[in-house]
Amino acid sequence: MNYLNKNNNLSNKRVLGIIGMGPRGLYALENLIIGLSEKNSLKNIHLLLFEETEYFGNGAIYRLNQVETNWINISERILILESRPKIILDTITIPKFPSYHEWISKEFSLLSNKEPDNYPPRAKVGAYLHQRFETFIKPLLAIEMVTLFKEKVQVVDLLENNKLKVETNLNTYDYLDEILLTIGHQPTALSKQLIAWEKYAQENENVTLLKAPYPIQNILNCSDLDTKNAIGVRGFGLAMIDVVRGIASEYGNFTIIDEQTQACEYTTTFDIKNWFIPFSLDGLPPAPKPLNAEIDELFKPSLKHISNFEDEIGNPSLQRSATNSDF
Ligand SMILES: Cc1cc2nc3c(=O)[nH]c(=O)nc-3n(C[C@H](O)[C@H](O)[C@H](O)COP(=O)(O)OP(=O)(O)OC[C@H]3O[C@@H](n4cnc5c(N)ncnc54)[C@H](O)[C@@H]3O)c2cc1C
Repeated sequence: MNYLNKNNNLSNKRVLGIIGMGPRGLYALENLIIGLSEKNSLKNIHLLLFEETEYFGNGAIYRLNQVETNWINISERILILESRPKIILDTITIPKFPSYHEWISKEFSLLSNKEPDNYPPRAKVGAYLHQRFETFIKPLLAIEMVTLFKEKVQVVDLLENNKLKVETNLNTYDYLDEILLTIGHQPTALSKQLIAWEKYAQENENVTLLKAPYPIQNILNCSDLDTKNAIGVRGFGLAMIDVVRGIASEYGNFTIIDEQTQACEYTTTFDIKNWFIPFSLDGLPPAPKPLNAEIDELFKPSLKHISNFEDEIGNPSLQRSATNSDF
């Protein structure tokens, strides 16, 4: 599908831009259109949607072409993405879109609370988001209410005429009235440690430094990936799980040996003892998720817990005196 259409004669329109069309951009777009259509205020609106990648609606994190071993860390049971209602505009109808639970044809309230939770691949969640985007955008493109740009926004500026200017890697648009930024995680500068490791890797043979865990395919394709070479993993958290599961699945198989507890066994024909060396500041691995709804319920915070937490985190003098994330 070619998303790009010509945006001509916007002079009489209010031009709104959304920069970043991942899940948050999609949700904002849907709510904006629903809200404005309820007020009958969509007539003179034109939307410019900027997304750096081709993954409109799902964004790079939920892209479709990623390894199946990248899972979302929220179980399907609590992945509550409500359905979108049918929206009738003047000449077009935007179809209803099912909730995530309807889309996977699962009614969790009918299942036993002992049923083990499952964590879908991020690509599956991406497929849902992308379909949701496509069914939403097609009618809007047909009436030329939106224009999509597969471009990277580099500069946003307020002009003297109170218009906003967006500069991308390809073009400049200087006629926007409002902009919403839904750009997700942004790249960060390399730490001193990584800069030093980069130098070390350049100066030493058979040492490779991979500075980003994703796409995992880059790790799998690395010529130094071999069971004879140890793999250090900086960070002992969620991305570590994706990396280890991705590599381990290339060299062996995980088999669930107990459906009820989801215990699994890993088998491989390789000698991989001490292959991975994960490390982190506190050395603690991530805590496992509860197995099922019944166990999850045991961890549910009470209303008192929640209000105590709110009081504490919202207390300005505590905030000022905090020295770390634990207050
Ligand atoms: C590797 C990884 C795994 C994650 N796993 C989970 C998980 O399992 N569960 C969970 O709840 N959360 C997870 N998250 C958190 C994640 O941020 C959210 O799930 C969700 O993706 C946030 O949606 P978003 O739309 O705000 O941002 P994003 O999904 O990051 O979408 C932002 C979009 O903006 C685009 N963009 C950014 N800058 C520009 C620019 N300058 N110009 C044009 N386009 C731009 C990007 O290409 C991207 O498509 C994960 C994050 C990462 C990085």
